[in-house]
Amino acid sequence: MLPQWIIEKKRDGHSLTGDEIRSFINGYATGEIPDYQMAALAMAIYFKGMTFDEVVVLTDAMMRSGEVLNTSSIHGPKIDKHSTGGIGDKVSLILAPLVACCDIAVPMISGRGLGITGGTLDKLESIPGYRTNLSAREFFGVLRKCGCSIIGQTSQLAPADRKLYALRDVTGTVPSIPLISASIMSKKLAEGLDALVLDVKWGRGAFMKTRHDAELLAKTMVEIGRRMKKGMTALITDMNQPLGRAAGNALEVIESIETLRGRGPSDLLEVTLELSAHMLLLGKRAGNRREALFILQGHIDSGAAFEKFKEMVKLHGGMLSVLENPAKLATARIKREYLAKHAGYVAEADAELIGKACLALGAGRRRVEDAVDHAVGLTGIVKIGERVEKGQQLLTLHANDEGKLSEALLLLGNAFRISSSRSRPPKLISGVVVER
Ligand code: URA
Repeated sequence: MLPQWIIEKKRDGHSLTGDEIRSFINGYATGEIPDYQMAALAMAIYFKGMTFDEVVVLTDAMMRSGEVLNTSSIHGPKIDKHSTGGIGDKVSLILAPLVACCDIAVPMISGRGLGITGGTLDKLESIPGYRTNLSAREFFGVLRKCGCSIIGQTSQLAPADRKLYALRDVTGTVPSIPLISASIMSKKLAEGLDALVLDVKWGRGAFMKTRHDAELLAKTMVEIGRRMKKGMTALITDMNQPLGRAAGNALEVIESIETLRGRGPSDLLEVTLELSAHMLLLGKRAGNRREALFILQGHIDSGAAFEKFKEMVKLHGGMLSVLENPAKLATARIKREYLAKHAGYVAEADAELIGKACLALGAGRRRVEDAVDHAVGLTGIVKIGERVEKGQQLLTLHANDEGKLSEALLLLGNAFRISSSRSRPPKLISGVVVER
């Protein structure tokens, strides 16, 4: 079948067969099908959607466009967590060592920040020496020794997705639930997992702007995983305000260390523990959620989770002394407090504008090839519902450049709303989607 016939079939709203989807994706991955035909099909999918059967085949074809890791030599269940991304989302840094304390292997392949959402790899690379580009052999070695390893995507993993994602980025076809689901799940399932827990975020600072869309995305990904015989759970979590009180790479490492030591912000701890608990349930390391939470809290209280983090960092070549003394991490030259203009209760702390301010400071990248400044960002971010007095700090900016600081301050001008009456904070975890 010619590629144009497949495009026309989807354009006219018909379902594609498995063979049609596979031949198209294989042709695109090998270069036989050019970008313009793939872009046309992506646009047809954007408008006409896909059935579950089609999305499952699309995911499988993208996953098989490269290597699928064989993790059978690693002891215990292999379970990962994936977040659709947000501002201040440093959960992976805490969750991976915490869950690894519970005899579950966490083979985590993460991404870099792009746009306003931060990336786990950028955060970890603010630890001097930490290598995110381990070979598959080294990755397995770290997993065998300490049970968790966080690395970047290799060129062999789901290459069709890498090509297609770049194309979607410039053809207006990113916000399509079938395409997002297949993109995320093809990469995650190529890790050779037994189960996966998803953190699907919705709100001002998230990909999905409404809770309804987040739920649809969560259900689609859970169903893909279920049909591929993987244990699946998705949480739907709030991203209208940042998670935790810090945003920016080294600053988030510091907050992660604080959380691993039992001194982290309550919202960050809650989301981390809840996602981790579902990993324990999927891995049969706890009989119920309460037991899972008890076990996990025990590993934080005993210091075992922090020790595990240190072990992972050491095996990746990272400098341990900065973890014991985080003041040694890169620090910005300028610190500026951003103050409340009047007293009241925080009614809005807009994650999108706060993320843009962070990006303006240089903590993120506008284009894939940009470098990030690990030292800059925001700390002490107030949360919705908190009381502030006139002149009290809403956050502190950490900057290395006066021009960037001014740009960030301009963006923050509309990020906070202070009201005379107390607003109820948005529900942090508003749903759980489990396989049926
Ligand atoms: N993240 C991905 O990996 N793919 C998408 O399509 C969207 C977010």
